[in-house]
Formats: sequence, structure tokens, C-alpha cells
Amino acid sequence: MKIKQLNNEKRGDELKNQRSQYKLVYGMVLNPHDDKKCDFYRDGAILLESVSAKGIYVVKDLGDVSYINKKYSKLLQPLCKCEDEVEVVDLKDHVILPSFFDMHFHWVQDDVRLKSKASLLEWLSKYAWPCENKFKDKKFSKRVAKKFFNKLPSYGTLGGAIYSSIHEHAIHNAMENAIGDFIIGNVLMTINSPDYLVQTKEQALKLVKKLAQKYGKKYAVTPRFAPSTDPITMKKSAAIAKKHGSFIQSHLSENLKEIDYVLSIYRGDYKEKGFKNVATYTDIYKKVAVLSPKTLMAHAIYLSNKECQLLAKTKTALIHCPTSNAPVSEMGLSSGLFDFKKMERKNIRWALGTDIGGGPFISMFDVMRSFVDQNRKKKRMSATYVKALYRATLAGAEILNISKTNGNLAKKKYANFIAVKSPKSLSKSGKQNAEIVLKKIIETISSRDQLENLVNYTFYKGNLFFKR
Ligand SMILES: [Zn+2]
Repeated sequence: MKIKQLNNEKRGDELKNQRSQYKLVYGMVLNPHDDKKCDFYRDGAILLESVSAKGIYVVKDLGDVSYINKKYSKLLQPLCKCEDEVEVVDLKDHVILPSFFDMHFHWVQDDVRLKSKASLLEWLSKYAWPCENKFKDKKFSKRVAKKFFNKLPSYGTLGGAIYSSIHEHAIHNAMENAIGDFIIGNVLMTINSPDYLVQTKEQALKLVKKLAQKYGKKYAVTPRFAPSTDPITMKKSAAIAKKHGSFIQSHLSENLKEIDYVLSIYRGDYKEKGFKNVATYTDIYKKVAVLSPKTLMAHAIYLSNKECQLLAKTKTALIHCPTSNAPVSEMGLSSGLFDFKKMERKNIRWALGTDIGGGPFISMFDVMRSFVDQNRKKKRMSATYVKALYRATLAGAEILNISKTNGNLAKKKYANFIAVKSPKSLSKSGKQNAEIVLKKIIETISSRDQLENLVNYTFYKGNLFFKR
């Protein structure tokens, strides 16, 4: 493995990657397009071109080495006067794929992701909330933000949707340290929350206004879930999101006990406010106008046909977190399994997420594994690795409205990609396609250690941000 003049620094702003006009990356390349189509180049090459003095690179072209060599022969010939203009990144013993979008996770729950789980509501009060409470300490929050967001690229994640705690400084810390394309929101907790982790409506709305103004489309108004945020705060904060072009994110129908709990609160405490006969969990969100094309709802496991219609009509996106929803024996919360086939029939957009700390591992490879594994057990055979990769990359960029420049390795998009060691079982001969390659990569994961160490290189906008 050889990378010419490659800098080994891990943090972006400190990186001094060579500023050549072009970079030529050799390796096996996987490039997802949709649920069924993913290009695979066994002897692949990606040509990157610098588009700014700051050293931002986009994909100029990709394909088989022979195609790139022929098409760009003048540029690439060894004695060309532009020789110094091309940096060669040789990753021939690696598989290169676009970096991930993790569309639902709580950065403030990293410490409790491996804690024992039984049920959602119990896990929240026993582990998640006490963990988030620690972020009231400014020094602690800053320290953890640096550490967490520094390690995130080592898992190949360079985009997605993040939940922060209720504390203002914690979301600033996350915004300052996150490397990649994320939307981030502070959870709103005005009701049914522990004394140490609760805000008044006024506090919550004042903060939403300030943060939406400051961060605009990078901000996500984040009512934690309907039982934790009162309807007036939800409605007013959703209006603020719309005004500033911000996103909205929350949780919906994760498990049956939770649904009963939500409906009992709204039909009881808020019966005078128009919720007396509210039919479903989704109806509550509809009544407070949080459903929209810029809204992301996590989990969505138990939905009636009417609820699906409502989500489709409002163009709300759903985020499926298979490892978080998996059985307790697999370190999940045993919530159930998202019905992706039904959602696709109803034309509802969806993407994958880890749901750290409900989900145990930061790696989206584990999420892809779990998605395929759980669905195949239910005989849903259209749950392929190709589909999982699309839903872990481009589908996320589409939901965040940045797919013109992000999400895969199409021409003119930012060169955001990762490289994993090519599996030994991937011999030169024999049938090879994207599905087989992805399956073999995922099959190499037989321990937590291997999962943690799968990604060897992470490039953001063509610059190396992580090297193992
Ligand atoms: Zn969550």
C-alpha cells in the first residue's frame, strides 16, 4: 500500500494534504445508485479534481483503470509536464465505497450504548437520561465532543442526523467538532422528564429560536418524542424550523408500550387542547404540524395504513435503526422490525441509522448486516446488501437535500469515501458483483474488534481525515 506524500494527521483543519490539481485513486470501487443498482469496478480508479484553493476535491470521473488511463492519457502520462499535478493514491488492496450517512444517533449517549437493555422506557430513565445529564458540565461536554467526533470518521461516517442533549453549549460543541455533513438538534424536554433534565416551554422555545437563526439548515428542531415535549412547544418550534429552513426530527412508534403511554398522555393531559379523540401517535405529530418534507421520524415500526398515508402525504422521511430495534440478545431494545417493503409500497422515503446509544455499535456496516440478517429471517429476500448500502449512503443525502453534491461517487460530487481492506475470500477469479463483495466484507466481521477496525482510510472532500 502506498500513498504518495500522504499526511497522517487525523483532524481536518490540521491536515496538510498535498494540494495537487488532481488525485488518482486506485482500488476496487463500489458505487451505489439505488436499491438495486451498485457499480463494481474490480480494477477501478477514481480521478479527483481540485475545485478550490482550499483543496476541496470532487469526482471528475471513475471506472475501470483501463478506461481512466485511456481517457486521461495526456494528463496521466509519466513525463507529462503536469506530472506534479497528479497525486497517486494506491489502494489497490482495498475496497473503496462512499462514506456513510448515519441518519439517527445521539452523540451524548456514546457512553451507554453497550449497557444492558430490557425495554425502551426503562433504558431511557436508567441509562440514557443520566448519561445526557453529565453534559450540563461545559468542560465535560467539550472534552467528549472532541473525542467522539474525532473517532466518528474512523467508522466511515461523514454525514447524518444527530441528537444532542438539552444543553446549549453541547450543541455548539457538536457543531464545532463534527466532520462532515450533519444536521444537529438539541432535544426538547418540557414534560414527563426527570427533574435534572427538563426545561420550561419558554426556555425551550428561546433556545430553538436562537439556534435556528444561527445554524439554519444545519439545525434540526428536535422534540425528543411526543411524551417529552408538550404540544405547544412542538407546534411553535416547528414553525420556527420552517421560517429558518431547519429540519425537524423526532421518534415515532418505536414499541407498543410506548404507543399506549403516548396516547394515554395526550388523550388525558391534553384532552382539552384538542387531543381527546386523537387516533394515533402519528396524528399527534400531525396536529402540531411537525410532519413535513424536512422531517425525519426514527423507528416507525408500528404504523397503521392511515398513518402511512399521512407520512406519505406530508413527505416525512423515516429512519430505520435495525441494531437498536434488534432483540435484547443482539444488544438492541427488542422493539420489533421496520417494514421497509410496506413503506416503499406507500412511497415513503427512508434511510438507515445506528441510534447510538439504543444501538450498540457506531459502525454502519453493523447496521447493514443487521438489516439484511433480520429481514432475511422474516423471508424478506429483497433486503440485500446493495439496498443496505444505498440506504446507508445516498438515501441519507437525498433526505438531507444534499444528494447533488453528496451520497455516492458520481461525477462532480464531493470525493467523500472510505477504504476497507479487501477480504481474502475475494479472489480474482469467480463471479463478482457488488452484492457478493459487500457480503464478503460483512462476513469478515466476526468480532467486535474487527468491526471497530474495519475502515482503514476515510477521505472527506478528497482529503485524508483518518488513517488506521
Ligand atoms: Zn433515538
